[in-house]
Amino acid sequence: MSWLEIWLRRFTDGEAPYERELLTAILETLGEYAFETHRRRAEATRRLFQQLCEQARAAEFNAILPTVREQRQDERLLVEVHLNDLRDMVWHLLNALAAMTQEEAQEDALIHQQVRQLSQQADTLDIRALRQTLQSITQVIEKRERRQRETLQQLQGQVHHLMRELEQARRESTTDPLTHLYNRRAFESCLQHTVAVNRLFQYPATLLLVDIDHFKQVNDTYGHAAGDEALRATAERLVRVCKRRSDFVARYGGEEFAVILRETALRDAQKIAQQIIDLVRREPVVIPDGEPLRITVSIGLAELQPHETPEQWFQRADELLYQAKQSGRDRMAA
Ligand code: GH3
Ligand code: MG
Ligand code: MG
Repeated sequence: MSWLEIWLRRFTDGEAPYERELLTAILETLGEYAFETHRRRAEATRRLFQQLCEQARAAEFNAILPTVREQRQDERLLVEVHLNDLRDMVWHLLNALAAMTQEEAQEDALIHQQVRQLSQQADTLDIRALRQTLQSITQVIEKRERRQRETLQQLQGQVHHLMRELEQARRESTTDPLTHLYNRRAFESCLQHTVAVNRLFQYPATLLLVDIDHFKQVNDTYGHAAGDEALRATAERLVRVCKRRSDFVARYGGEEFAVILRETALRDAQKIAQQIIDLVRREPVVIPDGEPLRITVSIGLAELQPHETPEQWFQRADELLYQAKQSGRDRMAA
């Protein structure tokens, strides 16, 4: 019998109010910081552990141990899988780099030799030999380009997979409790990653900064609870429009949201921004015991430029958001 089982038996047998409080606090904590697993989302686990807390308070302990054990096993599996993925990825990268470097070193040595021979015969320059050397240099360069492209393509698939998986694992520690969107910290790291990956693979990516119009008035007129409801509703509209797996939606400030549309150029992003604006305007926020509340948003859009830093990219989107506000709100600027 494990210590936990002995402990649980004590609860059922007699009074142990302090221990029971401790148990519920532990269950709550386990639920609050649960990982998302293949079995369920972290939010669902949080609710499940809340139920266990209630059962513990009512002296029903049967479900606790199996549930905790199952969750723990699932989380362990998750971590193992991610670590393996990460390790494989690093190995692939190292192997690809090593193979590339080795082949290149061999080719370079060959070219060096040819060039040396040529320079030794500089007095009696042989056009045919010169042409041959140039030809082999061209071939080497072409071959190298092709190989680098292939390697990049291979890596691309793996990077994709890994980023998606890692993002999912990170989601729960980086969500905003009010809207369940990613929080500012997650947004900042996604911005960095997007810039790094796009620099490597030259994907397009567009950043949207979305700000609720005259939100202070909403709070002042209808109260903070209505304001919170408007934030939740806006988050829901954003997620409804930006529904691709590669779309990243975050709340990065009070009534400010950011969307990173990966593999999306400005023209397509503009369509998405317009859908957001229309949807928010069209569907009023439902407030419990209150009139439906009409709100609008303004959006600044910027497509990532080559050589731009994450900060510069953000700055540009922010300036465009300001322009959208200045020119009347309920609109976008790109
Ligand atoms: P603009 O159209 O120029 O964006 O005007 P605005 O009133 O939306 O902008 P401003 O920055 O002046 O006001 C933002 C308000 O957002 C102020 C603050 O009370 C409110 N706010 C920030 N965080 C929260 C929150 O978590 N809940 C609620 N209810 N309100 C919040
Ligand atoms: Mg604002
Ligand atoms: Mg605002």
